Amino acid sequence: MDNILNISDLSKTYQSAGRTLTVLDQINFSVAVGSTNAIVGPSGSGKTTLLGLCAGLDRSTSGTVELNGINLNKLTEDQRAQVRNQHVGFIFQNFQLLPTLTALENVMVPLELRGEKNIKARALDLLDKVGLSERSHHYPLQLSGGEQQRVSLARAFSNAPRILFADEPTGNLDAETSDKVIKLIFDLNKEAGTTLVVVTHDPELAAKTQRIIRIKGGKLIADEKTING
Ligand code: ADP
Repeated sequence: MDNILNISDLSKTYQSAGRTLTVLDQINFSVAVGSTNAIVGPSGSGKTTLLGLCAGLDRSTSGTVELNGINLNKLTEDQRAQVRNQHVGFIFQNFQLLPTLTALENVMVPLELRGEKNIKARALDLLDKVGLSERSHHYPLQLSGGEQQRVSLARAFSNAPRILFADEPTGNLDAETSDKVIKLIFDLNKEAGTTLVVVTHDPELAAKTQRIIRIKGGKLIADEKTING
């Protein structure tokens, strides 16, 4: 099967108070097109850093990230942003919606950035998909956590991403809302074949994926198929 993501010898270090802090140490793995993958590990083990590098939000210290056949290391920040706009969806634990924009406007932003047409109608469609058409004129602070996460999903779906990266997508949600969000994410995988890479502490969410990658102290310590794999 083709891979949408190839990570080779990926390392990330930070300089702090004259010392070098190694956050990721020579990570290697590939992700097959259309697959579902969980990244798990203790707090501080480097999961968020790894996801950010895979999605082109940040740059590695050494090693390579190849996303959809494109070597991200060779790109400028603007070029990486372009790759993200075209191929990548990203959702965050704390939603990261723009507080001064309504739900509808938040979903319209990436459509606008890509210079697309009929963006209002498209954004309304996306909000409808996540069951929020009646909340389209609400601001993020007027929405519950689950509703905000569903707006951020609508925003992430807006470019029909080939790959969705989700960083603790249910970390701030109650059990019932978390089930709804998980269903939306897996529906996207089933219906559109979108590849999923999700960082999670939630064993139930991890068990729903086909594969679990374990990170500890910046190293990949296990890479296992689940019963779905
Ligand atoms: P996790 O997602 O597994 O909790 P993170 O990737 O957020 O782990 O962080 C891994 C380590 O990298 C932590 O020790 C964190 O303090 C450190 N770290 C993350 N970002 C920076 C930064 N910009 N500067 C220095 N250290 C950082």
